[in-house]
Amino acid sequence: MSFELTILGSSSATPVYNRHPTSQLLVFRDRHFLIDCGEATQMQMLKFKLRYHRITHIFISHLHGDHYLGLTGLLSTFHLQGRTTDLHLFGQQELMDIIEMHLRLSHTQLRYNLIFHPIRHYSPETLLEDEEIYVRTVVLNHRIPCTGFIFGEKPRPRRLKVEKLQEYNIPFTQYSRIKSGEDFTDGEGTVIRNAELTEDSIPPRRYAYCSDTIFMPELAETVKGVDLLYHEATFCMI
Ligand SMILES: [Zn+2]
Repeated sequence: MSFELTILGSSSATPVYNRHPTSQLLVFRDRHFLIDCGEATQMQMLKFKLRYHRITHIFISHLHGDHYLGLTGLLSTFHLQGRTTDLHLFGQQELMDIIEMHLRLSHTQLRYNLIFHPIRHYSPETLLEDEEIYVRTVVLNHRIPCTGFIFGEKPRPRRLKVEKLQEYNIPFTQYSRIKSGEDFTDGEGTVIRNAELTEDSIPPRRYAYCSDTIFMPELAETVKGVDLLYHEATFCMI
């Protein structure tokens, strides 16, 4: 049930010694997500010995260089390493213009599918959702379109109390129904309540990534209750 965040860079607009522009690797339920990709992202991933070739989704918050200038280099490295796995990229529409120009001028045809998903910056949306997790945007207020992201887990099924199931000789074939919350009725019509057979699972976890924005009191409501919050705070009044 992995949920590991590595801050690769947390510096502001220009690099400073031993700190780097923004980037993070989130390993979330065995999915590898890169959040922003400033300069030095690749070097930081090498330094921390992260399995960056397992990244399948990249989320770019906005098009200020300190949040994406490492991206074309990373895409190029994936190409040179012979990557064939699809790569999903989420960002403002113009991000793809930059990448396409770079690929065109360097006569590069990527060996893998780069699947671009434009982000709507004026209202929140769900970017990704499956049976276990979701990724939603948070609209921020910056000089150019900018979004944060919330990475969340969906509630897990209840946990089985295996010793109780064995005690009542409940067949294995009934386990998934019990896990989903159903009671069990034995051959003599005796009902065994679900609460006796299961227990609460781990509460779903949420991580909120909010990059550049002016002060937004309403943001507090959006991120209320998250388990982990990353919020940049470079300038007070911009
Ligand atoms: Zn910015």
